[in-house]
Amino acid sequence: MPRADITDLFRIDDLLSADEKAARDSVARFVDSEVLPIIGRHFRDGTFPAHLVPGLAELGVLGANLQGYGCAGMNTVSYGLILQELERGDSGLRSFASVQGSLCMFPIQAFGSEEQKARFLPDMAKGRLIGCFGLTEPDFGSNPGGMRARARKDGDTWVLNGTKAWITNGSIADVAVVWAKTEDGGAESVRGFLVEKGTPGFSAREIPGKFSLRASLTSELSFQDVRVPERNVLPGVVGLKGPLSCLNNARAGIAFAVTGAAIACFEGAREYALSRAQFDGKSIAGYQLTQEKLADMLQEIVKAQLLGLRLARLKDEGKSTPVMVSLAKRNNVKSALEIARVARSIYGANGITDDYPPVRHMLNLESVFTYEGTHEVHTLVLGKAITGIDAFG
Ligand code: FAD
Repeated sequence: MPRADITDLFRIDDLLSADEKAARDSVARFVDSEVLPIIGRHFRDGTFPAHLVPGLAELGVLGANLQGYGCAGMNTVSYGLILQELERGDSGLRSFASVQGSLCMFPIQAFGSEEQKARFLPDMAKGRLIGCFGLTEPDFGSNPGGMRARARKDGDTWVLNGTKAWITNGSIADVAVVWAKTEDGGAESVRGFLVEKGTPGFSAREIPGKFSLRASLTSELSFQDVRVPERNVLPGVVGLKGPLSCLNNARAGIAFAVTGAAIACFEGAREYALSRAQFDGKSIAGYQLTQEKLADMLQEIVKAQLLGLRLARLKDEGKSTPVMVSLAKRNNVKSALEIARVARSIYGANGITDDYPPVRHMLNLESVFTYEGTHEVHTLVLGKAITGIDAFG
């Protein structure tokens, strides 16, 4: 089911394999029939549509690009396409899938023991276990190396203390991948801990008052003398490169995915503009200023699609770099956010209500602009690559 012809002006469909199109189309049908009819209500009520999880699992969405352990083993392009379709529905639903697959299942697969992989991954792929990723802290967001969370070895267990903030899926997670420094304290001492729901001393509370990603759960996690057995420590990585490699993996998917929100806004605004008449019964789509808005939106969508696809192909060839990921995430999120804002303006007053999707996407994209490396942090990554000068400190 290719998108409306005009959205695929540059025949990106021709660049996709039959498998890639099939993966995309199955998720597109799911979004049309199961997500779009209910997502506005969940956004309004601030609830996560948990009943969709088994359907997503059935389609192979959870950990889609991982091999083995019941995962679908898709390539990065297919993974990007299905995330794009989810984001056409809602960035909150896509965030759920990104966190489950790229931030929780990926580190278990990449850095976990054989026993950990067998214990968690098949049930996570089926949606029977939900995961979250705890890196950010109340005082350490862009600079996770400063984290205060600490793990102290005591016999054959670790004792974990600290607080993690802004954790997607936190309050429904059965297993949290939590990053903490071990006692020697440097960023090189960071280890990953699999903290299971119900472990004494571990609690999660929802962060109230969000105006963005309202159909996604965002929590604060607290760890007070939480005893984590050695068998729940990820053995395969030490240091910040552990969480950063997860983020790099997730960001590539997000760079591809956000264009889904942009497409939803563009298609909705185009239809609305054609049906809405002002002055002499003429549709607002017939006025040049509206046409300029639509032309700018389409132009950015085409560029973002090409960038996302090229990045995913390079990732599949083992040639992508974090700098490429920064450029693609930075460009595509910014343009999707701008498209949502302009689409909102085309709807006039109707656009500020949740009867139409742009304002929901616009508010959601404000989070996407900030998480997975803020827009500014990706600017600094590019600045360093261009000049050789590190402007972070
Ligand atoms: P800060 O780091 O305090 O930054 C504030 C502002 O200062 C930003 O504009 C930033 O770009 C700018 N800034 C910071 N340093 C510099 C600098 N050196 N130069 C120039 N500008 C700078 N985290 C997780 O670990 N797991 C999750 O599942 C997760 N989910 C999230 C879900 C949502 C809805 C949101 C909003 C966030 C989520 N996060 C999650 C946290 C997210 O990764 C952080 O919000 C992000 O890293 C930014 O950190 P901060 O909010 O503390 O902002």
